[in-house]
Amino acid sequence: MLEIIDLHATVGGKEILKGFSLTLQPGQVHAIMGPNGAGKSTLGYVLSGREGYEITGGSVRFEGTDIAELAPEERAALGLFLAFQYPVEIPGVNNTYFLRTALNAQRKARGEPELDSMAFLKLVRQKLSVLHLKDELLHRAVNSGFSGGEKKRNEIFQLALLEPKLAILDETDSGLDIDALKAVADGVNHMRSPERSFLVITHYQRLLDYIKPDVVHVMSEGRIVASGGPELALQLEREGYAAVRAGAR
Ligand code: ADP
Ligand code: MG
Ligand code: MG
Repeated sequence: MLEIIDLHATVGGKEILKGFSLTLQPGQVHAIMGPNGAGKSTLGYVLSGREGYEITGGSVRFEGTDIAELAPEERAALGLFLAFQYPVEIPGVNNTYFLRTALNAQRKARGEPELDSMAFLKLVRQKLSVLHLKDELLHRAVNSGFSGGEKKRNEIFQLALLEPKLAILDETDSGLDIDALKAVADGVNHMRSPERSFLVITHYQRLLDYIKPDVVHVMSEGRIVASGGPELALQLEREGYAAVRAGAR
């Protein structure tokens, strides 16, 4: 599904990813943990094709396709979901309109017919009900004035609509309450399937109480320094990053 080999990348001329490698199979959920400044969010941005994040070495393949030179929307059309590719806030743009535009752009890129507003609304209702989300989010401007929890719920809703093959989620907001964490976890768990994979970037172990990853990686200074099963996350919680990093040497 995803094969990253010896990836090097710079931001603002500074090398942040320094030989990052990871292989993720269909159906797997991998978690990436690591201390602040390890380069976790940078990895997410690089995979999303965000401007200013430059790959200087190594390779990234998604289902065999080298995506390094692809635009964010081309990556999305292949089935990659990157929460980062969407603007944080777009005041004045209705969320429903925005989601329909995003979905139809993806359908068009895949040569599928666009959905009219009736068909889209039907799909929206169905997804809202399976995810137990409120339709209130739809009527507001995109992410405008959303709390951290609402942004995360909206992200999960985008995920459910776009039905990607691989979703990359960056759990950046340390202020998420337990209900928001559970909503994210429920959404991910609901969408887990033998064909769909997740890369969950998280600063804290607590999300992994609700999402059971197949593999946990510890990232430090731009590369993976330890990998293991879910027990690695618990060990990190107990012993801290420094001990795990030292043990892995
Ligand atoms: P994490 O998500 O693991 O906390 P980040 O990927 O946010 O780490 O940051 C990794 C390193 O990259 C940090 O040292 C940070 O200061 C640096 N960095 C992030 N963005 C930029 C930028 N736009 N310009 C220069 N350095 C950056
Ligand atoms: Mg950080
Ligand atoms: Mg981060």
